[in-house]
Amino acid sequence: MTFLRPTLLTLACLLASPGFADDLPSLGDASSAIVSPQQEHQLGRAWLALLRSQVSQLNDPQLKDYVETSVYKLVETSQVNDRRLEFILINSPQLNAFAAPGGIVGVNGGLFLNAQTEGEYASVLAHELAHLSQRHFARGVEASQRMQVPMMAALLAGIVIAAAGGGDAGIAAIAGTQAAAIQEQRRFSRQNEQEADRIGILNLEKAGYDPRSMPTMFERLMRQYRFDAKPPEFLLTHPVTESRIADTRNRAEQAKAGGKEDSLRYQLIRARVQLIYEESPGIGAKRFRAQLDENPKNDIARYGLAIAQIKGSQFNDARENLKQLLAKQPNDITYNLAQIDLDTATSRFSDAQARVDKMLAQYPGNYPLNQVRVDLLLKQNRPADAEKALENLLKTRSDDPDVWYSVAETRGLSGNIIGLHQARAEYFALVGDYRQAIQQLDFAKRRAGSNFPLSSRIDARQRELMDQEQMVKDMMR
Ligand SMILES: [Zn+2]
Repeated sequence: MTFLRPTLLTLACLLASPGFADDLPSLGDASSAIVSPQQEHQLGRAWLALLRSQVSQLNDPQLKDYVETSVYKLVETSQVNDRRLEFILINSPQLNAFAAPGGIVGVNGGLFLNAQTEGEYASVLAHELAHLSQRHFARGVEASQRMQVPMMAALLAGIVIAAAGGGDAGIAAIAGTQAAAIQEQRRFSRQNEQEADRIGILNLEKAGYDPRSMPTMFERLMRQYRFDAKPPEFLLTHPVTESRIADTRNRAEQAKAGGKEDSLRYQLIRARVQLIYEESPGIGAKRFRAQLDENPKNDIARYGLAIAQIKGSQFNDARENLKQLLAKQPNDITYNLAQIDLDTATSRFSDAQARVDKMLAQYPGNYPLNQVRVDLLLKQNRPADAEKALENLLKTRSDDPDVWYSVAETRGLSGNIIGLHQARAEYFALVGDYRQAIQQLDFAKRRAGSNFPLSSRIDARQRELMDQEQMVKDMMR
């Protein structure tokens, strides 16, 4: 991996970049500059774009919505100060999750495979959020507990490489600065791990969970990977020891009983993730059917079976299973989305449309429902309506590359060619491909021609993206 070579010197350029100029004190020596909260935010976004350009991601709206909603809920009761978060769902079955400075939360598909309950899933994220709120990344660097710019750049590079699957070798590759290595050590020191467990457990309880989920997950991970020569990355950086389990068990037992351990929603989302990593829909269907044979009342297995059947084009069987689930819970979003999926796959567009409208009347702000509405309008050759629906979605998800991708596609179909290039530019910028982003705005400008207000708006946006590109280039040099 050659794309990340942050050095101390190049960050001087970063500080001089116009994007950062506004909120910076004048600094003589860039290498001693302390990262301001606004800089931390911007650096985080820039690195997120880089990470997106390097790793395969999961773009299932239901999965994204679940992760975002559940993490924001945990953040509410946490000590995290800057709550402007951005998320990345990494398409890897390996157990991992991280919360990085700048408010980037990364979750691997593998977290869902390993965490058997919502409580266990929340334990891992509460622990990661505690690293963030306790500033374990920065501690010891400055009394103010703020990082220096080069430190933060190097640290994020380390996280990016680890998340991209580069593992230790990747971190070694950028450890020319050594800052990343130092920071990783600091973050994963025994003391910091203990603190993250302690703060994480308190937060779990405050957020309404049963904190016993944390030791329970540790115990199972320890059993599961005890004899594994190659444990997952998360366990390399978070070794589960007997004393850690005993510590967290003691703390968790002090909590009142009655906290939330699991939820149907988590299990349904988990079934979706399991299906992603199944070799084929047929194998998935077989596994879910076996669970259902054991217990015919297992709604989670029935849902898993239904979505595996949709994926495998066994539409009649899927319809029968969804009918049973919807009879029990007619207003459940997940079940209704599966039915909409099925109706769409079998070209029953008016049924699907009616169901989307009915559900949106109850949950107007729901992201997966709004996205499926757009997809459905497109399938029915109504790109103008789809475009309008997307404008609405952009109000809340203007930093989501998946939404911009959909906007570009839709504008193309509705003949809005300038808008198409603008949307592509936003998409490419969010996934770290600035060259293409800037080129798309060239195309847009050419089309805008003599429409001066429009072309000057495009021009201004292009300059912003050029500045961002320069900033990222400087970080990577
Ligand atoms: Zn940790």
